Amino acid sequence: MDLRNNPNETADWKGIWIFAEQHGGNIQNVGYELIAEGKKLAESLNCEVSAVLAGDESIEGQLQSLFDFGADKVYLVTHPELKHYRTAPYTRALTDLLNKYKPEIFLIGATTTGRDLAARMAVRVNCGLTADCTGLSIDPVKKILQQTRPAFGGNIMATILSPNHRPQMATVRPKVFKKEKVRNPKSEQSNLIRFKPEMKDEDLLVKIISIIKDESIKVNLQEAEIIVSGGRGIQDPKNFKMIEELAQAVGGAVGASRATVDAGWISAHHQVGQTGKTVAPKLYIACGIAGKIQHLVGMQGSDTIVAINKDPDAPIFTVATYGIVGDCLEVVPALTRKIREVRG
Ligand SMILES: Cc1cc2nc3c(=O)[nH]c(=O)nc-3n(C[C@H](O)[C@H](O)[C@H](O)COP(=O)(O)OP(=O)(O)OC[C@H]3O[C@@H](n4cnc5c(N)ncnc54)[C@H](O)[C@@H]3O)c2cc1C
Repeated sequence: MDLRNNPNETADWKGIWIFAEQHGGNIQNVGYELIAEGKKLAESLNCEVSAVLAGDESIEGQLQSLFDFGADKVYLVTHPELKHYRTAPYTRALTDLLNKYKPEIFLIGATTTGRDLAARMAVRVNCGLTADCTGLSIDPVKKILQQTRPAFGGNIMATILSPNHRPQMATVRPKVFKKEKVRNPKSEQSNLIRFKPEMKDEDLLVKIISIIKDESIKVNLQEAEIIVSGGRGIQDPKNFKMIEELAQAVGGAVGASRATVDAGWISAHHQVGQTGKTVAPKLYIACGIAGKIQHLVGMQGSDTIVAINKDPDAPIFTVATYGIVGDCLEVVPALTRKIREVRG
């Protein structure tokens, strides 16, 4: 019998781990965001927060930033086959690491890579996995992870527990939490644990021949500091021009509701919300967007929200910092003119 993850042995699993996803040697922001959230959870569990960084030998140059963003410890997993993400080698490396050091909680970004890796690992380790969490907390009595995520099409928020298996594994969308640069006094290079995984032939069946960037994707909503989004209230696909002009005037990116994407008015790369991108810019301007829950979960973490809607009862106003009740076909061009005037 495989006792590796016997429910009776949950007490052997300790600490919170964060997967520090990297592409081309650049650690993705979601790793830093998860460290910041992990630190909050660690206060209730009185444990350490460790980051797991995997790549080829050259990735070592990046690890200091994980300490700078608050990791108490870093597990550095290196192998030439880990230079670029592939499911099987990463699953092998991280599953072996997990079984050796036994973290109680393992958090991974709900990115394309993270979703792929987390699902495969959860099966290998025989634990549960809550995908796409938008909230995490610790049950004050049972001291287990409460994993909150939208369910039933976003109409309810479900809180999911994994009481019997370890680690408690969850993926979390980028931008749900905020990263914090906090030099951790405990963090030093002496808190670095090196791990060299052994690959088997069966892990190396897929080879990367070349990596070609899709140049058609020009919008990076998740990194934008200002987003101007259009909804069905803009009436016509050609009115995305007016959204683009306002975005250009404020130096922002163009977002969209799913209704406009489904109608073919704009590409899915622009969609904000539950089945689009989660964003948290400094300023989010919603033009003609109703503010259904599936849209709100993707943008309500924005610092300042300006909503323009002709219906004073539109739900978008419940999350807006500033609301303008009016016709966006008049308000948006007027705003653009004024901003251009002020900015010269
Ligand atoms: C499983 C699931 C996942 C989903 N995921 C997403 C998601 O990721 N992102 C997302 O956005 N939606 C998502 N949706 C869809 C969501 O429920 C809404 O249908 C969608 O967000 C509505 O888009 P909208 O606000 O642009 O359009 P509408 O609901 O049609 O609202 C248009 C708004 O514009 C206002 N308006 C109309 N004319 C004007 C005008 N001239 N000036 C100003 N205001 C005007 C109206 O008062 C109204 O409030 C999802 C739904 C499901 C079931």
